[in-house]
Amino acid sequence: MNKGTLYIISAPSGTGKSTIVSELLASDENLCFSVSATTRKPREGETDGVSYYFMSKEEFSGLVESGGMLEHAEFCGNFYGTPKKPVFDRLAEGHDVILDIETVGASKVMEACPEAVSIFILPPSLETLKRRLTKRGTDSEETISLRVAQAEREIGKAYNYDYTVINGDLDKAVADVRAIMSASKNMTKLNHDTIEGVLKKC
Ligand code: ADP
Ligand code: 5GP
Repeated sequence: MNKGTLYIISAPSGTGKSTIVSELLASDENLCFSVSATTRKPREGETDGVSYYFMSKEEFSGLVESGGMLEHAEFCGNFYGTPKKPVFDRLAEGHDVILDIETVGASKVMEACPEAVSIFILPPSLETLKRRLTKRGTDSEETISLRVAQAEREIGKAYNYDYTVINGDLDKAVADVRAIMSASKNMTKLNHDTIEGVLKKC
């Protein structure tokens, strides 16, 4: 049984998921970020082993074939995956772990780990999303169009998540996610041991 809680956070690219996750990590020492593997090229300012483990397609496939990934998926022409061992090691130590992953990988984790708590972050609109991707300045116009087209498909998957949060005002969105994380500690699905413990005393 895991001691920590596993959080899945998904959002269309450009919604502000990384910004929100950075704020959560900065204010909670017990919270760990699961560093994903990707075949995408690093953006300016991204560090190998911190933002992602950047690797070749061959290295990535090797990791998948050896059973080292909890999930993996293709997104806009690149592969992304969650290395399994660090996630379960941190959870067993009692840390909470955040997976920042897209919707296909997220549904695989929901199936494999039904105790995971899932949060979908929504942009206020597709226009706002495009504006944020453009303002971020890390992607070409072609990549931005691909990601906006992908966004519409992803938003339809929000129904599968335990919670949805809109990222209009950043402070409000961070506060909402913090409130969800706090309340999730009392979710019945995460408290079967507690219930059994009390029943034993009946
Ligand atoms: P994601 O991780 O979802 O791809 P980012 O966190 O990189 O998105 O955010 C995309 C851009 O939008 C960044 O330039 C970020 O500073 C900006 N941003 C994030 N949240 C907000 C917000 N609530 N209001 C305005 N801009 C935001
Ligand atoms: P980006 O290229 O903008 O960093 O990420 C693109 C998308 O890939 C985002 O939706 C992000 O959440 C997702 N992603 C990042 N890491 C993983 C992962 O390990 N697995 C899956 N399935 N998606 C990931």
